[in-house]
Amino acid sequence: MIAVSACLLGYMCRYDGKNKKNRCLLEVLESDEIMPICPEQLGGLPTPRYPSNLLGGDGFDVLDGKAKVVSIYGIDNTKAFLKGAHAALYKIRKNNITLCYLKGKSPSCGAGTCARLCAGTDKRAETNFIAGRITGVTAALLMREKIKVKSIG
Ligand code: SF4
Repeated sequence: MIAVSACLLGYMCRYDGKNKKNRCLLEVLESDEIMPICPEQLGGLPTPRYPSNLLGGDGFDVLDGKAKVVSIYGIDNTKAFLKGAHAALYKIRKNNITLCYLKGKSPSCGAGTCARLCAGTDKRAETNFIAGRITGVTAALLMREKIKVKSIG
């Protein structure tokens, strides 16, 4: 089984109530068993919600208590992001999952450099890497716990 950011699968769980359905990823995973996860919803945040940003560091710093996650209106959502990250890890561990595809450029799911997946002869080929993206709270926790994370742009 593979865990995937729910918004990439078409779930309307993004902050704006929309999704980020990735048809190439769905093709890549067509024969896999998938477990959708949305750490922000698992952390108790509503949908839609105001977007949040990492403040003072990346997801690893949030895990270490050195940075926060704050909404665009200044609400401190750090606890919810941490709760969601640990809930996602719990579900992943419970299902013996070792690989995740997570949505890039997210304060939860972002995992550094993103790849774009392209359908084609080699469906698992990853192209057009986008470097330098920040790592979110859930991605950081999963990486620390030795879960393989692939970031999809
Ligand atoms: S990026 Fe992650 S936390 Fe944000 S909507 Fe998608 S699954 Fe949920």
